[in-house]
Amino acid sequence: MDKPKKIIIIGAGISGLTSGIYGQKNGFVTEIFEKNPLPGGLCFTWYRKGYPIDGCIHWLTGTKEGTELNQMWKDVDAFDKEDIIKDDNFGTIEVLNQKITLWCDLNKLEEDLIKISPQDKRQIKHLTKLIIKIQNMKLPLDMPTSIMSIWRLMDVGIKLTPSLFSYLNTTKLTCEQYAKRFKSPVIKYILTQIVPGHNNLYSTLFAYGTACVGNGGVVKGGSNYIIKRMVEKYRLEGGVIHYNSEVKRLFIENGVCKGIELSDGTIHKADYVISALDSAYTLTSLLEGKYRDKEIEKRLAETKKYPLPSCVYTTFVVDYNAYKELGLTTTYQFQCEPFKAGASSFSLIKMRDYSYDPMFVKDGKLVMNVMTHQDDEDFLYWKKLKEDPTEYSIRKQIVADEIKQRIIEKFPSLKDKIELLDVATPVTYERYCNAYHGAYMPFAFTNKASLLMHNGKIKGVKNLFISGQWTFMPGGIPFALSSGKFSIQRILKQEKRHYRITKKQYQKYAK
Ligand SMILES: Cc1cc2nc3c(=O)[nH]c(=O)nc-3n(C[C@H](O)[C@H](O)[C@H](O)COP(=O)(O)OP(=O)(O)OC[C@H]3O[C@@H](n4cnc5c(N)ncnc54)[C@H](O)[C@@H]3O)c2cc1C
Repeated sequence: MDKPKKIIIIGAGISGLTSGIYGQKNGFVTEIFEKNPLPGGLCFTWYRKGYPIDGCIHWLTGTKEGTELNQMWKDVDAFDKEDIIKDDNFGTIEVLNQKITLWCDLNKLEEDLIKISPQDKRQIKHLTKLIIKIQNMKLPLDMPTSIMSIWRLMDVGIKLTPSLFSYLNTTKLTCEQYAKRFKSPVIKYILTQIVPGHNNLYSTLFAYGTACVGNGGVVKGGSNYIIKRMVEKYRLEGGVIHYNSEVKRLFIENGVCKGIELSDGTIHKADYVISALDSAYTLTSLLEGKYRDKEIEKRLAETKKYPLPSCVYTTFVVDYNAYKELGLTTTYQFQCEPFKAGASSFSLIKMRDYSYDPMFVKDGKLVMNVMTHQDDEDFLYWKKLKEDPTEYSIRKQIVADEIKQRIIEKFPSLKDKIELLDVATPVTYERYCNAYHGAYMPFAFTNKASLLMHNGKIKGVKNLFISGQWTFMPGGIPFALSSGKFSIQRILKQEKRHYRITKKQYQKYAK
């Protein structure tokens, strides 16, 4: 048997860790280089005043047993079935003195909406049918289509056909356009607020639909729990992570990627390199702008067609009893007097209560978060402001104060019972993960956008693969997971290998 080939993986986010685990399982010798002192990337929990701030998982797709995604979560040992908490709703939106809860039970949603607007009955029934149809659409997430056999491709095609018409229709519609089909101003409003940002109707209903079919939830222990388990799985499979190891550039000789150079000048060689981080950063910094990629570049250039979502992430602690007495659902949105965050103005607050997990409750106080959507222009605003660190801190404090004030105006019983813990801005995500424009998800799937399923290769560089949420719209941790697996499958294809060596054989060669 040949000596196992070596793969260097850049980034210990979900995608990099996934490549590491599948790489080890398939007999490669892998090493991950991560710039931060801790793993996780955007999927991260940090602490303020002893309270955890979960910076990622609001919604984890792939919790349903028997699905491809769930199998992949199992392969990387991200969680056990018992760790998943499922809610009976996808949040509540309060508008015009009405509270609409997005129930996972669509019959219940239908009943509530018809009560509000009987004249919209036909359209409401159309909406719930559409959600089911979209959910029945089985996207292949376990393997890139470019390496599927003809039989697998045919199977995928057959499974996609019944939902294809709904898919094509809903991807070309904004939520605002669809909302116009309803008469009730309440329903019109909620349809535009289910998911923040500029996603098309398909993405919005897909996200809500995962809750309705029981394929989504949250995980006990939050983002760090998943990451800790994946790191342990990687270690048990024989992988090695180097922290505080920032990669400065890719080492390329005669069009072949042969390794990496770290910021301290050391060079590490490998047979393959997987860059599991922001693709724009890979192109401009790691490849020093010497290689082009049309798929990524055209999206970066057209910010209106492909806006990059980010957020101001404001976290508070509130008195547990006072908050629970309000009787709100886990996610609760209400309208308010306008306030400014970044370059944009908002008249909506979306609160999230973490009391479903005891880890977020301490000394009678509960962690509560408000996520305010940001776009490219907001990022540029914060970036400019950051040049003056004092001004930047003041502005963050102002945004937090304004949010707090509106929460108290809405819920006066919380006065003197709510305290700021932390504010993260798009610049935080850029600093921490090299995320282009501070984006926490890749290009939004707008009604004008075309779906990105990158082939993972950069033209002109052999043995380099890119992965991560930036290669696979609409993004989020499930797509980071899939793309991490895809990189290994692509390498296996190049190696003309489809087997798995035993652990004993691996250990012999890895020494
Ligand atoms: C506030 C917030 C809420 C979110 N909510 C959800 C949610 O509810 N559900 C969901 O599915 N997704 C959610 N996401 C998105 C999710 O976190 C990301 O899609 C996912 O974590 C991306 O993983 P990744 O591995 O592709 O990239 P990243 O997490 O960005 O990983 C890249 C890694 O590479 C490292 N790196 C960068 N540059 C270098 C370098 N030069 N050298 C070495 N290492 C480097 C980074 O430090 C990082 O660790 C949320 C994100 C945020 C910020």
